[in-house]
Amino acid sequence: MIQIQHLNKTYKSAHALKDVNLQVDKGELFAFLGPNGAGKTTTIRILTGLTRLSSGTVRLNGFDLGDREIETRRQCGLVPQSINLDRELSVFENLNIHGKLFRMNKQKRLRRIEELLDYVEMGDRKGTLVKNLSGGMKRRVMIARALLHSPAILFLDEPTVGLDAGMRRKIWALIKKIQQHGTTVFLTTHYIEEAQFLADRVAFLDRGTVVVLDTPVNLMNRQGTWALDCLKE
Ligand code: ATP
Repeated sequence: MIQIQHLNKTYKSAHALKDVNLQVDKGELFAFLGPNGAGKTTTIRILTGLTRLSSGTVRLNGFDLGDREIETRRQCGLVPQSINLDRELSVFENLNIHGKLFRMNKQKRLRRIEELLDYVEMGDRKGTLVKNLSGGMKRRVMIARALLHSPAILFLDEPTVGLDAGMRRKIWALIKKIQQHGTTVFLTTHYIEEAQFLADRVAFLDRGTVVVLDTPVNLMNRQGTWALDCLKE
């Protein structure tokens, strides 16, 4: 579903990604784990077409990044790290705008919004202004918005950062449910327990380089102390 070969990204002052190679299978839940500044957000921004790569190739569900941009973007749903909902609009209005951007016809758009708000357990908040929602609720609305155009791959950038333990578990359950319903999931995190709980495979990224690529169990068994030390830095 995702094929990354020799991916490099250089900003003026930083070599953010250094020869990253990996493959994510259809239906897999893949986690990019790493400390602050490792290059996780840069990777997600490149894969979702928000930032240009410096060199290398990326294929998403058979589409080459940079080629047929609109088709490629349709493959991706993105939940960014920071809340980017319009706080003065209602939950429904935020989703409706997204549906219009993806040119969904009215009937399909309204049906899908209803379905997804129920799916993320926000059906009773349709008319609530975003500014009156809790942090966890806003995350769930962002997840519903990202799924609206039925993407093949859902990208989540640090989806539980800043949430308390109870809300984090609720978001984890939702992410698992999304995978079980057939969507490929690519997420970034700096919580090792999040990667352990959710992911089929984990890539540990350190200063732009993938240093370990394995199952969470193997990562912990073979590299546990070292990985935890890296994340504490
Ligand atoms: P965090 O967990 O803090 O979000 P991250 O793993 O997502 O970190 P990135 O945000 O991808 O890391 O940053 C990787 C490197 O690229 C860092 O050295 C960062 O300073 C640099 N960087 C990221 N965005 C830019 C930019 N727009 N311009 C210049 N340098 C950037």
